[in-house]
Amino acid sequence: MTQIRTRIAPSPTGDPHVGTAYIALFNRCFAHKNGGKFILRIEDTDRQRSSAKSEADILAALQWLGLSWDEGPGCEGEFGPYRQSERSEIYSAHIEKLLLGGFAFPCFCSAQRLTELRHQQMQDKQAIGYDGRCLQLSEEEVSSRLEQGMDHVIRMKIPEDGACEFDDLLRGHISIDWSQVDMQVLMKSDGLPTYHFANVVDDHLMQITHVIRGEEWINSMPKHLLLYQYFGWQAPIFCHMPLLRNPDKSKLSKRKNPTSIGYYRAMGYLPEALLNYLGLMGWSLPSGEEKFSLQEMTDNFDLERVSLGGPVFDTEKLDWLNGRYIREDLSDHEFAQKFAQWAFDAEKVKRIIPLIKQRVERFSDVVGLGGFFISDLPKLDADSFQHQQLATETLLKILQFSLWRLEQISPWNRDNIELGLQTLAADLQLKIRELLFPLFVAISGAAVSTSVFDSMAILELDICRARIRHAIAVLGGISKKQAKSLERKYRELD
Ligand code: GLU
Repeated sequence: MTQIRTRIAPSPTGDPHVGTAYIALFNRCFAHKNGGKFILRIEDTDRQRSSAKSEADILAALQWLGLSWDEGPGCEGEFGPYRQSERSEIYSAHIEKLLLGGFAFPCFCSAQRLTELRHQQMQDKQAIGYDGRCLQLSEEEVSSRLEQGMDHVIRMKIPEDGACEFDDLLRGHISIDWSQVDMQVLMKSDGLPTYHFANVVDDHLMQITHVIRGEEWINSMPKHLLLYQYFGWQAPIFCHMPLLRNPDKSKLSKRKNPTSIGYYRAMGYLPEALLNYLGLMGWSLPSGEEKFSLQEMTDNFDLERVSLGGPVFDTEKLDWLNGRYIREDLSDHEFAQKFAQWAFDAEKVKRIIPLIKQRVERFSDVVGLGGFFISDLPKLDADSFQHQQLATETLLKILQFSLWRLEQISPWNRDNIELGLQTLAADLQLKIRELLFPLFVAISGAAVSTSVFDSMAILELDICRARIRHAIAVLGGISKKQAKSLERKYRELD
């Protein structure tokens, strides 16, 4: 029997997302339940958006959760390298095969022509997509353009009519008309592959037997299956998992819920509890018991029992489960040890001490001054913001604009935070002190505290975001209408 091989294929383009861990968990359980292997592949072909920091954070977050991989970065196996940026030659060789077979073609259309085409299609209420102009070029014309070194991409050919029919392990039979499928770019003009192309080539070469991924990829299935057909390869079995949702049922987003694994770690959740909670997203033990370990989940795992009703990621339920782990599983000694490890993380403490040392006279002053680095949301009410006598409307605007500005900061460090907020103050014609005041209160809960730039740098964006949002809520919140108008004004600043 062929060995079952599953994979998780994150793109290192942001913070490690709970959705990545959720998909990794199900892939790992399925592989290990069936004596197979779970592979980690880094899909970093988008050189502009990928970063080494994001990759390192994703790997560290998966490790923290206990989601180790059998093959992947740091654990090389016979199908490596497991980072797509190190596999360029493989993709070039495979694109040649498609070109030779007549399944793909060079497209020389300029970005400007493609934009105009899209606008025209939107105006005419037509499906958006490439119109196939470069398919009409004669062979001689194509050769001469290639010889001249003209900029081009490689696109795949798509059948003109009919539908792509396929089966999904959880969803049964699905049919998507070819008229809805674009002539996908497979290779960009810089010679790097796109997600769709590299993903299929690698799943085949890494002998992946089951592709278990989020439902947002269902619409890509026709392109992927067609590539398998063009290459003459047998496609793996596909299983599209339901997306995690916010309690209001919308797709889980950081605007409504913290989505970064780093946030949950920083808030003092236990990795076993978070992992268990992710396991409850669409699945449960046959006994109905909601608390289970990774081993128990693996032993009892059955992919076909995953329910498709959108699983809700609800932090209240997570809190309840985490509380159970703390009460039921930790002895007092373990509690003390784990708490100390979390609260006095050496790296973090090293950054906090210089900020508070110059302001304390006794150790007993430390908690008052630096307690906010490890506490939950600060206790605030509208009066907390009265110090500078700014109108509530102004406070809300400052907080929301600052949050948007902070979200643009990369890399996240003290100097960039300072620069970002200083330019925002200048844009808003506010004194930096006025802009920083509500942020001080939101972040530390006090009007006077350690440097707000340093504090935010240490707390990381997710925690800052949660605190700024909390301050906004305490001040009465921002309605949808106000948010729209603020967004317009914010855009005008750039
Ligand atoms: N790189 C894709 C992502 O970031 C992988 C999707 C897939 O599993 O095919 O989600």
